[in-house]
Amino acid sequence: MSDATRERGGHMDLQAGMPVDRARSEGRAVAAWPQLLPLARLMQTARRFFRSAGDLALPPTCLCCDRLVASDQALCFHCWHEMPFLAPPWCQRLGLPFAYDLGPGAVSPQAIAKPPVYDRLRAVSAYSGPARALVARLKYHDRPSVSRAMGRWMARAGDELLVMDPAGAGPPLLVPVPLHPFRNWSRRYNQAGLLAREILRARAHVEICADGLRRVRATRRQVGLDASARAKNVRGAFAVSREGALAVAGRRCVLIDDVHTTGATANAAARVLAKAGAASVDVLVFAHAGADRPLG
Ligand SMILES: [Zn+2]
Repeated sequence: MSDATRERGGHMDLQAGMPVDRARSEGRAVAAWPQLLPLARLMQTARRFFRSAGDLALPPTCLCCDRLVASDQALCFHCWHEMPFLAPPWCQRLGLPFAYDLGPGAVSPQAIAKPPVYDRLRAVSAYSGPARALVARLKYHDRPSVSRAMGRWMARAGDELLVMDPAGAGPPLLVPVPLHPFRNWSRRYNQAGLLAREILRARAHVEICADGLRRVRATRRQVGLDASARAKNVRGAFAVSREGALAVAGRRCVLIDDVHTTGATANAAARVLAKAGAASVDVLVFAHAGADRPLG
């Protein structure tokens, strides 16, 4: 099956038509925005060109700290050693690691006290040390190339979620958590979309609906908000797109995001997918905040 067939959701185009009043509601300067658009695009293109040229000319460096390494898309010994990778045994629902093996299907007290809307969550690592630095590079430092290794690790961490269904319900459908169009424009890419594409490369049997979800409301950045403020911030922020409605009905969906913090975003997105008829919704992220120490 070709990528074009599997990829039902299209791509992450730059958003050129952002209404001024919506941008103003985000507290951004908008007066000169339309006039600056060609210049901004030129600078983005130049930045991409010089980065690509640099990639060809320079020796490979650590994805995280830029020390020289033997091969491309790798961590140095120090960062690898410090990376807080997660491994079983873990909570069947939240993917939080246990200090002891409590048997198959064991669920953490956190999942019992506050069951998530989604079914299962899996993550590559805790959200600290080099994992936190990698996420920052991907999101804030204009380094989309780090998504290649991050996506490969996510494919491995999400093995349980990405298996073909023996009951014949079809392959899992990856649904990246979307950015608001204005943020997508300013960053040039949606980091969750890049990670989903790398997972697709690593697991050829899965499918993707890149634009299955839409952000229908601009939200504040979640950084610095507590759990209830985060939940309030993303309430009603997501909707299933028209192509998403066709794609997700009856399917096992796997939401893709870079970080899981309180679960507010994942729960809000899972809620609309379930309402659209998804057979199940799992979540696969790169980093899991709160998974620093094994439970028990
Ligand atoms: Zn390093």
